[in-house]
Amino acid sequence: MTEGPSTAWPVVLSAPSGVGKTTIARALVEKEDDFAFSVSATTREPRRGEIHGVDYWFLSEAEFRAKVDQGEFAEWAPVHGDLYGTPRKSLLEAGRGGRHVVLDIDVQGALQIREAVPEALLLFILPPSVESLFRRLTGRGTEKEGTLRRRLNTALHELEAAAAFDFFVINEDLDAAISEVRDLARTGKAPPGGPSGKLEDAKDLLEGINALLERDQLVEDN
Ligand code: ADP
Ligand code: 5GP
Repeated sequence: MTEGPSTAWPVVLSAPSGVGKTTIARALVEKEDDFAFSVSATTREPRRGEIHGVDYWFLSEAEFRAKVDQGEFAEWAPVHGDLYGTPRKSLLEAGRGGRHVVLDIDVQGALQIREAVPEALLLFILPPSVESLFRRLTGRGTEKEGTLRRRLNTALHELEAAAAFDFFVINEDLDAAISEVRDLARTGKAPPGGPSGKLEDAKDLLEGINALLERDQLVEDN
């Protein structure tokens, strides 16, 4: 929506790790003038090429906790042993001019945003199948059995919260997924044929991951 600030609700993208939510969020903001990215704060170390204030606000744990105490975050949560949060200021600044603010955050954060910003639209991105999720997680071929199991267990926890989300988008063809997220975000409504995913798909994925985790071994020893 481009009419004005009152019609631009924030759009939260969540997904099990490796499904493509960061790729979708970044592409949307790059391509479309009516979307802006909410830059999160984190206590994790910057990765190569990441820029302070662009990819994240990189803070020490003491700095982060001081901001928690001062009520500066719209939501925050521990993720993979580090702290992540959405500064209220990022939401306000990114939303200037009536733009939709895109939040690439985990499910715990999404549920907090649901409470703090009731008009926010919560989109859950799904892989086309459990096999493709497995392929994207093992894409580099270097994942150890334990790491992979941890990621699959995290994906299970994320999927357990799926019922709280407004719409489900299947990221099979990347361009199609970006367009679908853009249209859902702008209208806040499902298209006539319905969105590409359903809560049922999240439940099927959950069962598929459970079945995988029951196997004795997921990858060759490395
Ligand atoms: P997430 O943020 O959900 O963890 P990323 O956006 O980092 O995931 O994407 C994980 C990997 O999957 C990246 O290498 C990305 O290029 C790839 N990817 C994203 N979308 C697709 C797609 N539709 N088809 C194939 N690969 C994809
Ligand atoms: P990464 O460290 O790989 O960039 O992100 C790890 C996870 O933290 C991803 O699931 C990402 O969506 C999530 N994340 C990033 N920023 C925030 C945030 O501000 N709040 C919450 N709750 N999660 C976040």
